[in-house]
Formats: sequence, C-alpha cells, structure tokens
Amino acid sequence: MRQSLPGTIAARGMCLGRARLVQPSRYAVDNRPLGEDEVEAELDRLHLALETARQELRDLRTKLHGALAREVNEFIDAHTLLLDDPELLRGLDDMIRIGHYRAGAALKKQRDRIAAVFEAMDDPYLRSRREDVDQVINRVISALQRQTSAEERKLAARVGEILVADTIAPGDMAHLAGHGLLGVVASSGSPYSHSAILARSLDLPMLVGTRDALSSIHDDDLILLDAEQGEAIVHPTAQDLARYRAWQREAAQEGRRLAKLANAPSRTRDGIDVRLLANAESAADVAMARARGADGVGLYRTEFLFLRHKGLPSEEEQFVAYRDLVIGMGGLPVTIRTLDLGADKADAAGIALRGEDNPALGVRGVRLSLRHPAVFTTQIRAILRAACYGPMRVLVPMITQPDEIIAVRTLFKLARQELKQEGVDLPEKLPLGAMIEVPAAAINVRALLEHADFLAIGTNDLAQYVLAADRGNDALENVYNPLNPALLRLICHVISAGRRVRKPVSLCGEIGGDVNFTALLLALGLCEFSMHPSQLLLVRDRLGELDHGTLRRMAPKLIRAHTHEQVEALLASIDASLATVPA
Ligand code: PEP
Ligand code: MG
Repeated sequence: MRQSLPGTIAARGMCLGRARLVQPSRYAVDNRPLGEDEVEAELDRLHLALETARQELRDLRTKLHGALAREVNEFIDAHTLLLDDPELLRGLDDMIRIGHYRAGAALKKQRDRIAAVFEAMDDPYLRSRREDVDQVINRVISALQRQTSAEERKLAARVGEILVADTIAPGDMAHLAGHGLLGVVASSGSPYSHSAILARSLDLPMLVGTRDALSSIHDDDLILLDAEQGEAIVHPTAQDLARYRAWQREAAQEGRRLAKLANAPSRTRDGIDVRLLANAESAADVAMARARGADGVGLYRTEFLFLRHKGLPSEEEQFVAYRDLVIGMGGLPVTIRTLDLGADKADAAGIALRGEDNPALGVRGVRLSLRHPAVFTTQIRAILRAACYGPMRVLVPMITQPDEIIAVRTLFKLARQELKQEGVDLPEKLPLGAMIEVPAAAINVRALLEHADFLAIGTNDLAQYVLAADRGNDALENVYNPLNPALLRLICHVISAGRRVRKPVSLCGEIGGDVNFTALLLALGLCEFSMHPSQLLLVRDRLGELDHGTLRRMAPKLIRAHTHEQVEALLASIDASLATVPA
C-alpha cells in the first residue's frame, strides 16, 4: 500500500528505484534456514571467517612484546587450538550442510552447546575455560559480520537502487555513486553534512531525517524518491508516477531555458557584475562549471581525493589531479583548498585522529595538516608544481588565528626552495587565502587580513560554530539556521573588512548556491559567490531579477534584525517588490 515518508531535502531531484536497506541490525545472527543452493556459499563464508580469526590471532602474537607476552601467548595458543579443533569444525560444517543453519546461527548454537558442557564441570578452573570458547566464537562471528557488511556494500551498489540507511559516510557515497546508485533516503542527518554536499555534487537526490525509513521500507520495495517535495513514497500509485513523468518533462524544459543563460553575464538588474565560481571536486564538476560559464573554481576540496584513496595519495597522484583541474578550467582561476580532514571527514589513510570527544572542535583542517608536516609538504609540493599550468590560489581551511597562516606560508616557502633546487618550474606568485569558518577568525578578521591574500567564508562551518549546532544533526534544524542575525553580522563584518583593504572575499558555503540567499548576500556586500556548478544558472537567473542598489540600502536593517523571522520578513518584502517591478 502507498505510504509517504516525509524527510528533509538534502539534494534536489526525483528518482524511481528499488530500495536497498543498510540496517545494522541485519548483521545480527540470522536464524532463517538456508536454501539447498546456498549451502556451499555459506560453508565458504564460515571458512573464510575462521581463517580471518586465525590470522588475527597470528597478527596479535607478532605484535606482542613486553612483560605480558607470555601470559597472552598462552591464551592465543588456547584460542588457536580451539579454532583448529576438528570436532568443533566438523560440528559447524554439519550444522550448515545437514541442519541448513546459517554460519552465524551455527556458531552461536555451537557456543551454547560447548558452554553447557563447561558449565556442568565441577572443576572451577575448567569451568572458567568457557570464557575462551565465548571469545573465540565471538571473534569468528565478528569476522563473519564484517564480510556481511562488505557484501551489503556491494549489494547496495546495484544499478537502479535507492539506498535506505541511517546515515551514509561521504566515502561510501562516492563509492556507491560510481556503481549506479540513484538516490539516498537517510533516516537521520542534515542537509549541511558533507554527505549531503557530496550528494548534490554527484547529482544524487537525497532526503535526510526520514525518520521511519528503516522501519517502513523493505528491500526491493519500489520507491519514488521525491527530493523536490521532501518525501519518499513507498509503492507509488499511477498518479505519483504521472507526477514523476511531469517533473522529468519540466526539469528538461527548465534545463533548456537555463541553458540559454550559460554564456550570459552574471549581472544584476541594475548592471552590477558579480563573480560566480564553482565548488568543483570531480572532472564532471569541472565540465559542468565550464559549460555553465563559471568564472573559475572557488573551492576544490582536496580531501575527497584522500577519502577516495586507500592510504595517502602520492605527490604525483595529487599533482596530476590538481594539474588536470587547472588545465580543465582553461585559464580561469582555480582555488585549491588544502586538506580538511577530521570531524565527519575521516580518511582511509588513518591520519585523522579517531576517538576525539569533540571531533568538530578537534584536530581538523589546518590543525591536522600542521601536525603532519610530511603529509602536508607532499600536498604543498603537488600544488606548487600544478600551479605552473594556470592561475591558481590556495585556500587554508579552519584557520583560527594568524600564526596558522604564517606557518602554512613558511611551509610553502620551504617547499619552493626544495623544488627550485630540484629544477622544477614554479609559479611566480601563489596567493594564499584563509577560510573564515571559525568565529574567532571572523571576529578578528583584520589580523588575518595582514597575512592572507584573500578570504573565503565557509558558512557551513561558521554557522555550526557560531550557533553551537552540529551541522549534521537534524535534531537542531531549528537552531542551525543560516538566517540567524548573529551569523549575518559576522558575514557582513568579514566582507567589509576585506573590501577596506581591497582583498577579495568569496563565500563558498552551501548558501552561496541557494537562490533563497542570493538577495541577502548581495545586500551584505558579497560579490563573489562559489557554489556547486549545478546551481550556477539558477543563481545567475536570480541575479538578473535583483536590484543591487536597493539591496545594499537594506543591509543596515538586515544586520540590525533581532531574529531570523525578522530577516525572513525583510527578504519576503524584496520578493514582493520584485513582483510589482516590471523587468
Ligand atoms: C564550509 O564550511 O562552509 C565549507 C565550504 O567547507 P566544508 O563544507 O568543506 O566544511
Ligand atoms: Mg568548512
């Protein structure tokens, strides 16, 4: 029966596909009997898990040093013996082959049986060996579950499917998108999370905060994901499908209308030119940025290169990626942001710290890069080498105070000297800019402007830190509001400070590409917007409707507002006046 599940739009669009659930509880022991044709595969899974457990014990033994080595080796010996116990192994095989148990269920059953035998022993020492059995079997079950989650991942990547999950990590999203995934329905999360940003970049419709998704949707259910209205429709009706087809027609039509704007200037109605830059991470983003007439790349998030990679990307790999970006933009300026790992962007190489109590307030961005000078220098060398191929600027994330930008400049200087000695061609200048996303940096921006050549305001993080609201936490949707006047005052302060010393200030947070914010940002004095390329034509279209002079006169009122509702009312009055002014 048709069911509509409301969610928050994280990446617009619509798609129709089969549901693929990723539910952690699926990894719990599965008690359904095996089909005859599944037996051999299940035996293979069991033996693979047993071998993984044996290997883990071997690894543990080689890692052991020090006083406890002897004692611990004893338990490793005991556990290894158990793992090779012919009776235990035969019993497991028989349970799968004859009893049609799944591997996890067979292991659990064997554990219970052996435990009962130990429990019945009089000798307390022997009775205590039951713990060993538990530990060994748990190790095998855990190896089995890791296999299952890897299989889930492969399953979830089948063409024509919509992923239904609690949340999805950016790394997984990038992987799945390359395998034909159509869209994502997440039961938690926020539109300002990095996964949401990536979904927009990948053009994958995505809903977050779809609370009942995991309990109401089942594998293979047909779903119409409507990330235009904000609902996931399970078992859509003929009427829903007709609406979907109408949307597809309209989207194509709107695409053709906007396409005409690709070569148009980015100009307000009263003739003020604005620079529209692209946030571009992939070759497809670069192609779209060029096709839609971007004035350059305002943000290239290099961490995605690290997230997609097993281990750290080499200097050569990074150089090729940065050089291709510069070449791809055909002489337009490119802004490369140095590594911003940490917080929700943990890397596969393991340099981001794990287990911090507050990772968003922890060692991320430039803080992490400065703690890993070798990793950072590799990136800096790659950037310097690529900068010879076209105009480039370098942007440093999570700057809090001037000494960080000074330290980065020093590392650039050292890398330059090194490369010069190696006879490598180097760019004459390479502007170094600071991201303004930490409140202290925004408040004390004048001090930073003494050391930075340009600024880029990162409102995704600035909002999270000003409002003390995790950008990925949907429970704080009412607090994480980029229209909050405190945030607007800071944005205005940063733009004015940059203008005073004639240094460029752009804005590359998600609101930069949201047409609902274009008038507001123009009013605050912004003249460089950076956004996902899919938004370029929409923002250009919006600019053409707006009067820069009128908006600038509204700035004092906007920043004096006490509440976001007052800001909303002022913005609504702009739209109302537009409706009455002939174009
Ligand atoms: C921001 O914080 O606004 C920003 C652009 O950086 P990111 O979203 O990558 O943290
Ligand atoms: Mg940021």
